[in-house]
Amino acid sequence: MKNLLNIPAIALLILAFGCSLDSATDLQELSLINEKEYKNTVSDQSLSNFMEKNGILTANIEKIDDGYILDDCILISHQKLSIWDSLNNNPNFQTKTQSIITVPSNEIRTITYRISSEIPFEMKNLINEVINSYNSIRNFNIKFQSTQLSNEELLFQNGNSGLGRADWPTNGNSGRFVQLNVNSLNNSIYTDAQRKFVIAHEIGHIMGFRHTDWIEQNEGLYGFDDGYYTFIGASLIPATFDNDPYSIYNSGPYYFNRRLPIPSFSDFNYTDLLAIRYLYSKDITEKPLYSYISTGSGWAIWTTNWNIYQYGNQQYGFWGVTGYIYSIPVTGSTALHKYTHSSGTPYISTSANIHLLYPSYTYDGQIGHVFTSSAISRTPVYEWYNPNVGFFFTTNSVDNYVAGPGWTGGGIAFYVMSLGTI
Ligand SMILES: [Zn+2]
Repeated sequence: MKNLLNIPAIALLILAFGCSLDSATDLQELSLINEKEYKNTVSDQSLSNFMEKNGILTANIEKIDDGYILDDCILISHQKLSIWDSLNNNPNFQTKTQSIITVPSNEIRTITYRISSEIPFEMKNLINEVINSYNSIRNFNIKFQSTQLSNEELLFQNGNSGLGRADWPTNGNSGRFVQLNVNSLNNSIYTDAQRKFVIAHEIGHIMGFRHTDWIEQNEGLYGFDDGYYTFIGASLIPATFDNDPYSIYNSGPYYFNRRLPIPSFSDFNYTDLLAIRYLYSKDITEKPLYSYISTGSGWAIWTTNWNIYQYGNQQYGFWGVTGYIYSIPVTGSTALHKYTHSSGTPYISTSANIHLLYPSYTYDGQIGHVFTSSAISRTPVYEWYNPNVGFFFTTNSVDNYVAGPGWTGGGIAFYVMSLGTI
């Protein structure tokens, strides 16, 4: 259904402004489109794709400095087209809205919240428990603080939409309201852990997290923001996945309308932690150590620079994140060096000068800074070797990848900062 990405948004725009664009409304109609009808008149391939995927059959196209105006009605800027292109080329991401909460660099911003008296006592406790979970995310630059005063930034109140809804961030501030449908949520079919899932999900929205399945739900790039129907955007979050079934940001309507059981919330899935830390890290010198496996040889390679391999290329497939490492030295840290064996096998080690002791290795430089001893918030990384494959590093003490024949090792090579909570 990816080709129907924005039809509801366009349809609503037409209603709102009385534009006269011809718009397809379902797949059947889309398949009847005579593509030549507009492709002959559109020279910009991005615009042509945008129109096709939004079901816009014909339109007067006016070219302006910034982009295009369709039928004197819809402004399609070059910037929007380029976001559109990147989404269509890389759909496998969790996404955030254009606007997020502004936090000064290397500071923690306190967001005050209040729970309206319409919310029953038991649910207040659940809200506070979920808030505590958010507040315990390590290196998170937002802290939610309860207030009794009525000048709070975030208000939890009763609502009647689905199981809950929430506002997007606006002007650098958090969304104003989380509205929980107390009547529905209090139904005895739900456990407290399921209610907490809904609360955690809605809090994600007030920070700018969109549904991980927004493409499958045809939610488009437009929505209500500060009361106006406008472009809210969908910017990409590296190393997370579209339609991620483990994410708490999977869509509420999906569970509500399809009568699927709401998942239980006990802690954040690692992709949600990556997403939260991608937008809201206090210390940005902590970087995810992205890990890849060669699709040919099976050996691994590591980098903190997402742009090198992203979700993989012809040689490497994305494997996951092996904790966080520092881009600069910190107290007690040691450098993590990268080498390449003459066979092509990459290797990482806290030992310097391996290439001097063993000339078959070349030195590729430092990839970051890690630790050689355990401490709070540090996770051990286990080292494995297979002469037919190469080296493999994992934070899993039991890892299926090294379950086959030929693997030896399993000792702790170094420690990284954990993905998780404090
Ligand atoms: Zn939602």
